Amino acid sequence: MTRGRSGNGKGPVASLDPNRPTPRRIYIMVGAPGAGKGTQAQLIAQALGLPHIASGDLFRAALQADEALGREARRYMEKGALVPDDVTVRMIADRLAQPDATAGAILDGFPRTVAQAIALDTLLARRSERVSAVLYIAVSETELMRRLSGRWVCTGRQQHVFNEMLRPPKVPGICDIDGTKLQQRPDDQPKTIRARLDKQLPPMYEVIDHYNELGLLMAIPGEQPVEEVTAALLASISRGTPVAVR
Ligand SMILES: [Zn+2]
Repeated sequence: MTRGRSGNGKGPVASLDPNRPTPRRIYIMVGAPGAGKGTQAQLIAQALGLPHIASGDLFRAALQADEALGREARRYMEKGALVPDDVTVRMIADRLAQPDATAGAILDGFPRTVAQAIALDTLLARRSERVSAVLYIAVSETELMRRLSGRWVCTGRQQHVFNEMLRPPKVPGICDIDGTKLQQRPDDQPKTIRARLDKQLPPMYEVIDHYNELGLLMAIPGEQPVEEVTAALLASISRGTPVAVR
């Protein structure tokens, strides 16, 4: 059997200098609420063997931990205020410095604004690194509204979740599993959701534009079934060619 020198089972030869470390693969997941970003980030992280770094988890961990940075973040969170970018960026930097992220990471929920994106780019550039690609799960606003409104939660202890469109209960208003009444939270009512999207989408589009200009954006249609979105994401990553669509 004749094989090329790179066919030694150790993957492609990335560099002529054997001492030069393989660059980290840092992917950013971007998507509106309801686009399935968190789920996909987890699946992609598993498939690529990289840690899934969700900013929400970092904030929750900061609330528990007793470290200077966490205490600082906590002061804002306890007031219900947004954690300032410099604190958030330092938390992400700390997380990226941990041993499990030596091969890279999947960032989920960060950067949320162009200011954060630029801060991240700067942070990475200081170590001669950069974002590998930005994976945007594209879902139309009509579809987002359809997915996010019509969410009903049961009043039983388990709080089972139903959705008028995507997962309707067999008997309207009643939980399939424990028979308790379903109720709609104020947060899940269409008016509230529209307001939330109007507030969250513009900064997300700015982040998308920022990385589009840098040639790093990969847009993946997000209205197909979960497994197909995952497959499309993985295909885009392995092709490595950014596709700028919006
Ligand atoms: Zn239930």
